[in-house]
Amino acid sequence: KPVIVAIDGPSGTGKSSTSKAVAAQLGLSYLDTGAQYRAITWWMVSNGIDLDDPTAIAAVAGKPEIISGTDPAGPTITVDGVDVAGPIRTQEVTSHVSAVSAVPEVRSRITDLQRSLAGAAERGIVVEGRDIGTTVLPDADLKIFLTASPEARAARRSGELEGADVNATREALIKRDAADSSRKTSPLAKADDAVEVDTTQLTLAQVIECVVTLVEE
Ligand code: C5P
Repeated sequence: KPVIVAIDGPSGTGKSSTSKAVAAQLGLSYLDTGAQYRAITWWMVSNGIDLDDPTAIAAVAGKPEIISGTDPAGPTITVDGVDVAGPIRTQEVTSHVSAVSAVPEVRSRITDLQRSLAGAAERGIVVEGRDIGTTVLPDADLKIFLTASPEARAARRSGELEGADVNATREALIKRDAADSSRKTSPLAKADDAVEVDTTQLTLAQVIECVVTLVEE
């Protein structure tokens, strides 16, 4: 039986690095759901959609074709056939993604994609996001909720971004998490049956080992 692992938590907790490594180690597929929300946001920005207008976002939520490649050794993401792996990480997309993700029509569209990818994974899949354990895959075999102090999260994120200021990064992270946690439709939340792992004092290798052990139990 394919194994389904849900890994949720705020930004900068090591979700992506952990999820990718766990999937690779266990021979499972891997899905970065944040990349899908970033991809639809990139499309909205590129097409001049008014991102202050949820009705305008909802009206076109079904338009872009978003395809995720789920090999943990080289995950891919395309929108209408265009490779957007780079463009979805820009400041512009990052600053608008919470607003786009809060629109129910966007969430139901992306959630459908996520469920069909999870259902198609032959050996199973590690899916990382904000609402995977609570909403997208409530029957997952294992649910992990990663946390870390705001300082640790900001330090990790600014380490990834060239020339980034730690304080500005921390403020932006806190703002995005607050928006993601307070939206009405499937907010960032820990499922009741999720295992919470505080990664503040752990190395990436320790977090990976911890999750692999939990999957194998
Ligand atoms: O994980 P990442 O930081 O790339 O996610 C970008 C954004 O996508 C989040 O801040 C959130 O607004 C949205 N998101 C979401 N639900 C998910 C994954 C991401 O709303 N399952």
